[in-house]
Amino acid sequence: MKTNLKITALMLALTLVLSLLCACNAGDGTEGQTSADGASAPEATTPEATIPETTAPETTVPETTVPETSAPEAEVEQLFGVVANTDKLNVRSGAGTKFDIVAKLDRGERVEIVGTSGGWHRIKLGEGEAYVSTDYIELDYTVDASKHVIYEGAVHDLFPIAKSYSFKREPKIEYVMLHFSSAILIDWNDPYNIDLIRDIFIDGGVDAHYLIGRDGTVYCNVPEDRVAYHAGRGTFGDVVDTMNSRSVGIEIAAIGSVNDMSGYMTAAQYATIPTENVGYTDAQYEALGALVADICARHGISVDRQHILGHDEYNPNKNDPGELFDWDRLIAEAKKHK
Ligand SMILES: [Zn+2]
Repeated sequence: MKTNLKITALMLALTLVLSLLCACNAGDGTEGQTSADGASAPEATTPEATIPETTAPETTVPETTVPETSAPEAEVEQLFGVVANTDKLNVRSGAGTKFDIVAKLDRGERVEIVGTSGGWHRIKLGEGEAYVSTDYIELDYTVDASKHVIYEGAVHDLFPIAKSYSFKREPKIEYVMLHFSSAILIDWNDPYNIDLIRDIFIDGGVDAHYLIGRDGTVYCNVPEDRVAYHAGRGTFGDVVDTMNSRSVGIEIAAIGSVNDMSGYMTAAQYATIPTENVGYTDAQYEALGALVADICARHGISVDRQHILGHDEYNPNKNDPGELFDWDRLIAEAKKHK
């Protein structure tokens, strides 16, 4: 009973945090998974979690016999996998157990996946290609950041989010939208734990291109050449519900004013938050200024308030980056980097 209550409380907290995170629900705009890229979006159909917990060696488990032509092969943008659940994995000349074994891979070996269809990954093997059962490959979404155009000073290890909750961008980038995020409702004493914040994004099916930690570290969650789900529905100038497609989103690890946070906690609870955890740090303004300047320079965007906006200016139901964010300071910081 006690456990159930705990779980219920946790779920409630999680729900609150998800809404606190202000980013749009992936499906609530016109830019969700069903838009232009939806039909061809490979990420949504990539079977990343199909690995059965079997201890049987690969050789005694019949590999799935789905014919290779049963489904169109999903396009994969440079994806890697690691051999798991078997010590020796058969690599075959075709997508099916009837094909010859052309090699064997050891547990833990890394493979580059070229495509996936009907329970088989097509992988690179030497100069050519071959096939392995998807049941024995744990997908590794780590990608080569050097192949994407992004801010040079960013840490790229959060790219996994990009694979599930973004799609290839077509319109040009015209805006930069700022948000705040924290994990305070998950862990009151560790609200700026980057992994916790990242988990909230993943659980909520949302993301922004960048996340700026309290110390000014810039994490890149999604390459700029992909549309991220951070803005949701709203209006700004002539933009109506299409801000995701037209903007780069930046989350700043911060907790807003008592008003900003009033939907998530009481004033008494808010009063217990250490003051250093409230608002924005000097390091964040500096990092954000450099990042915004860089984005604007690369995409030909003016460094002004007509092009750099808060989530709350697009959707009045949002409260981030909130009352404590100093817009004049940001613009001044960004202009230092001419
Ligand atoms: Zn937001």
